[in-house]
Amino acid sequence: MRQENRITLFMALAGLVAMLAACAHGPRMPAMDGVVVELRRSDKGLSRGDFSYDSTLQLYWFGSGCHLIQLGDARVLTDPFVTNELKLIALRSNPERVEATLGMIPVPDAVLVSHSHHDHILDAHAAMSQDPWRAGRVPLYGGMSCKNLLAGWKDAEVNTRCHAVPKQGGVLLERTTPKGYTIRITAYRTKHSPHCKCGFTLANGMIRSPRQSIPNDILDFQAGEVYNYLVELSRGRVSFNVMCLGNPYDLVEVPDSMPRVGTRIDVAIMLAPTADNVRGYPEEHLARLKPRHVVLSHFNTFVREDPDEQLAILGIDFVKMPQLTRDMQATFARTEREYSEFEKMHIPAITVFEENGGARNVIRIP
Ligand SMILES: [Zn+2]
Repeated sequence: MRQENRITLFMALAGLVAMLAACAHGPRMPAMDGVVVELRRSDKGLSRGDFSYDSTLQLYWFGSGCHLIQLGDARVLTDPFVTNELKLIALRSNPERVEATLGMIPVPDAVLVSHSHHDHILDAHAAMSQDPWRAGRVPLYGGMSCKNLLAGWKDAEVNTRCHAVPKQGGVLLERTTPKGYTIRITAYRTKHSPHCKCGFTLANGMIRSPRQSIPNDILDFQAGEVYNYLVELSRGRVSFNVMCLGNPYDLVEVPDSMPRVGTRIDVAIMLAPTADNVRGYPEEHLARLKPRHVVLSHFNTFVREDPDEQLAILGIDFVKMPQLTRDMQATFARTEREYSEFEKMHIPAITVFEENGGARNVIRIP
């Protein structure tokens, strides 16, 4: 190649490189200034008799919004959905999945339903009608629509244990168990986080009267009233406050959808998908709650049974985990002075029960 041509080509390439460097942003670093991202082996579940069983908060996650929050022998379950299947019609709870998950946990003290979409409630009746749960008179709390939806199973005994949360929320339960654990649950009325940026939410209606048949298709599962819950578990001097932020919403529009400023929050279980459809989330919610620990939630696929697949529908990524985790890091890193409580963010794998009945992929917080 002639010398003049080489110079021309070199200059063109240099121009192209300079243009690309100036215009195209590459992916962000996993960790930003002020943060370190650490990986470690997940914990095994503790059982009665294990050291620190009574003083360790344990968090089991069965996918979607279904978490078991446990301190010793005090347990609260959220959003009973483990079936992992998406059909438009003939939606049915999968008995094998229920047996392998909710059938393996000790009887909880309460079940909380954030709203009545199928991926939060489909397995509620199957769980509540297990013999030990009937014997334990396990109560379930959800909106009036949730109670009306569950009436469709026509199970009078379960229906007596389904309680409608007062419209604007409030304290639902405060009791001390015979084993000395105190359980206090408070509901905060909120709105469903929009499914798209325009603010639209699928199946966002109410269920105004008791159903007369088992819900069948996806539109039978209208969201109804929507709540976030604060779960306070304590025994003696050990206490943990867990905020279940299943439906974050614009705090300017719904300021009372979370506890008042200054409430101690040890753990915030926080919705991951649709984060960028909610104005101010997660930064403003974290700045208000100031949780010691953050646990991300509802980011697995519930379209099929695949514990290693993240939530996407038709290939569209609804979670955008790198962006969300960077947004969370920004809160921790930039507000160090005001938010010194922060310790860790956890991105869990789904809890699995092993053949001996032990559980792996449990988060333990001492
Ligand atoms: Zn929903």
